Amino acid sequence: MEPRIDLHIHSTFSDGSKEPDEILNLVRKKKLAAFAIADHDNIGAYFEVKKLLKDGDPEAVPGMELSAGRGGEDLHILGYYMDVDSEILSRELKRFQEIRNRRGARMLKELKKLGIDIPFEMVEEIAGRSAIGRPHVARAMVRIGAIKNMDEAFVKYIGLEGPAYVPKANLSPRQAIELIHEAGGLAFLAHPRIAGAFRYIDELVGYGLDGIEVYHPHHYSNHVRMYAGIVKKKSILASGGSDYHGRQGRYGTIGSQPVPYKFLEAMKNKIKNRNRGLH
Ligand code: AMP
Ligand code: MN
Ligand code: MN
Ligand code: MN
Repeated sequence: MEPRIDLHIHSTFSDGSKEPDEILNLVRKKKLAAFAIADHDNIGAYFEVKKLLKDGDPEAVPGMELSAGRGGEDLHILGYYMDVDSEILSRELKRFQEIRNRRGARMLKELKKLGIDIPFEMVEEIAGRSAIGRPHVARAMVRIGAIKNMDEAFVKYIGLEGPAYVPKANLSPRQAIELIHEAGGLAFLAHPRIAGAFRYIDELVGYGLDGIEVYHPHHYSNHVRMYAGIVKKKSILASGGSDYHGRQGRYGTIGSQPVPYKFLEAMKNKIKNRNRGLH
């Protein structure tokens, strides 16, 4: 059987609950051939993993999941194989972290108007080393007893249609793709099935999108077939992963998606050919 890979894992550097070293151990246990921690707007986990890698370990691929959008939309663009020392990338990621933290404060302000009073320090503590994301706010809401579970936070308050929803407005999908390319990486549209993202595939391919995420826990076999068909028709690449978030898991467990190693080979070939000037 061809070895599996998992290119979509979250750590404590964003809204996952597992540390990078715990993720590495899980990846080892599952005997994956390769993996990418793709945190929201953050590449910090890669540096930690790299220090821990031993001979014979699974291949670690640099990854991230950028939030992009216009107005109320929220599209996620996955980046792989960026130069992690790229100055423009670290500058931009730092800016996104600041935007996230300011947005966290704004969400709390909106919640306060609705009678839910959460101290900023509590959300900061829950976020730990991560910049603030909606799941951290949701956990604070559960902690003070304003709601019963995280789902309720999204359904009633901070989901796209909720009264305390605040968009991130980091950058447009086109800018996200361009940033990933400037840093030497490949750009993929994450989970096309979520939030109607599939509608943007053509437009994004026009901006140089390298591929789409075919395997994801929210894709059923009909979606996988459909997206694999689009990949073939448009001569773009495929990626896939579990979107593992640890105990916050509404998604898969590590290695749960049948993502073949050949997806990674195709990515590496594209980068090699691009660097040789063939594309
Ligand atoms: P943010 O990037 O701060 O806008 O937060 C979005 C993240 O919230 C997503 O990446 C998911 O991990 C998480 N999320 C979205 N919907 C839910 C939900 N219903 N329950 C728990 N987490 C969710
Ligand atoms: Mn998340
Ligand atoms: Mn996502
Ligand atoms: Mn994700």
